[in-house]
Amino acid sequence: MSVQVLAAKMAEVELKDVPGKELTPESPLTPKADDKGVVENEPKATSATTPTMEPIVKTGDTSPGFLTPNTKMPQASAMKRTDPQQNGGEAFVNRDGTVAEAPRLKKIQFADQKQEFNKRPTKIGRRSLSRSISQSSTDSYGSAASYTDSSDDETSPRDKQQKNSKGNGDFCIKNIKQADFGRREIEIAEQEMPALMALRKRAQGEKPLAGAKVVGCTHITAQTAVLMETLTALGAQCRWAACNIYSTQNEVAAALAEGGFSVFAWKGESEDDFWWCIDRCVNLEGWQPNMILDDGGDLTHWIYKKYPSMFKKIKGIVEESVTGVHRLYQLSKAGKLCVPAMNVNDSVTKQKFDNLYCCRESILDGLKRTTDVMFGGKQVVVCGYGEVGKGCCAALKAMGSIVYVTEIDPICALQACMDGFRLVKLNEVIRQVDIVITCTGNKNVVVREYLDRMKNGCIVCNMGHSNTEIDVASLRTPELTWERVRSQVDHVIWPDGKRIVLLAEGRLLNLSCSTVPTFVLSITATTQALALIELYNAPEGRYKQDVYLLPKKMDEYVASLHLPTFDAHLTELSDEQAKYLGLNKNGPFKPNYYR
Ligand code: NAD
Repeated sequence: MSVQVLAAKMAEVELKDVPGKELTPESPLTPKADDKGVVENEPKATSATTPTMEPIVKTGDTSPGFLTPNTKMPQASAMKRTDPQQNGGEAFVNRDGTVAEAPRLKKIQFADQKQEFNKRPTKIGRRSLSRSISQSSTDSYGSAASYTDSSDDETSPRDKQQKNSKGNGDFCIKNIKQADFGRREIEIAEQEMPALMALRKRAQGEKPLAGAKVVGCTHITAQTAVLMETLTALGAQCRWAACNIYSTQNEVAAALAEGGFSVFAWKGESEDDFWWCIDRCVNLEGWQPNMILDDGGDLTHWIYKKYPSMFKKIKGIVEESVTGVHRLYQLSKAGKLCVPAMNVNDSVTKQKFDNLYCCRESILDGLKRTTDVMFGGKQVVVCGYGEVGKGCCAALKAMGSIVYVTEIDPICALQACMDGFRLVKLNEVIRQVDIVITCTGNKNVVVREYLDRMKNGCIVCNMGHSNTEIDVASLRTPELTWERVRSQVDHVIWPDGKRIVLLAEGRLLNLSCSTVPTFVLSITATTQALALIELYNAPEGRYKQDVYLLPKKMDEYVASLHLPTFDAHLTELSDEQAKYLGLNKNGPFKPNYYR
């Protein structure tokens, strides 16, 4: 489909077109007068058909959602749930103050240990930086590619004085001259982010985020730019830093700066730069944030450590990542969370789409860009058959690969069998496979013993969140030689000449080596925008100092905003059917525990 046709389709996207929803008389972007923060139980409509073994504790109210579209908008109530990891521990446990030092890696200090930013790394220091202090700053999810990036200019952005065409210099990016390229990237991304564009249209009269001062720390990509510009269209002021030292698209950052955003980010920041950028976002005379949008928890952490008094004005935190959410639960458990927080990571729309479809679409891209491997007939073992594993297996099977699966959970194992995959133990196939992919979220799934037994040329990579799944450290021994053959591609060579191809040093393959589909990010970004709007507008008392999930109805709403892209026609329940199923005709259509 051409861009023009897509654009024409986009122009038709109006919330009123969302199928299967009723109009409401209320103004779509205004809080309801009766919003009193009443705490009730879940909508009774579902209770008739759902078991009582609800694992999620719900404390949200059912007062109408503030962002009620023309369509019947999901209830604003949110759910609280306990930390899925149940680890306990201190609030904001200092995540690994120093990163395990590998032979060629620079030892890095946790930023808290620094009081000032005057220890500027040298150019060489910057280039040699292989890992950040923050696991999430290197491992969380995002797009790593930059189509127009020029690495010719080695001057640190911190040493440059740049201004945009209006004379504004409140930003720090690689090169403002790349703004036109970045604008093009943003416009392309807009075509695949229908829900955010629809929210903008709705906001023309009203500004649900008027007065909101959002400080953000996420991947700075074209998709984030669409989110930021949407938040601005909804009335917010935004200041932004990158949550990952590698993932910033420099040209996009330039376009944002040219558009008047205070952006502090560039691709290849040092650890010192990373925290400096975050600090520049929040530490500004005459401007204090009142909302936080975080991905990984580093921004939240920084404000807690350096500017705790800022929380007096902050109305809420929206957090996207597994890591960041886990830290919020730890804070909550320790009684130190002082504002309400929304856990976007555990939204159904995030898990069902981000994990499954994103990986189904990006696994081949990551492998192809790094290795040029042909998939047809290749033997691949995928460790873990959760959402990510299912996506990887489906893509590889479709390309004609012979796919084996390993699992520990009999249910997922049975699913793999019934989807036509051979369920094996890793040691049964390790000698014969051409590609090994981990996606378990676990540690030490591929250990040295397996690496020793792999055949010559075997490709090894990870699609799980952290670089714990492959025991890369066990390969840093004197008898093995490492050869960097391409960016993010290492050959590890045994004394007998056997070599394995290790991708991204065991970090997330698609984060490190490919892009991810914009449409999937649109779903997550829309959830983030709604969470911000909800927290910002919630009446006093609706949310306590705790971590909440968005309700299923809001998940359904996010999904419904994306349906017009496919010209999809949703079936509406008849009154009789709704009564029969014990459902409200406008949803939620599934119980909260549905995943
Ligand atoms: P999931 O829990 O649905 O699936 C993981 C599966 O691995 C489970 O079925 C579990 O039983 C299995 N498993 C655990 N240990 C195992 C072992 N030793 N051997 C074999 N199987 C084992 O989780 P998911 O949603 O599939 O996510 C998996 C990982 O991918 C997580 O770390 C997640 O954060 C990450 N993730 C990556 C991306 C990406 O873009 N690459 C996107 C979303 C999530």
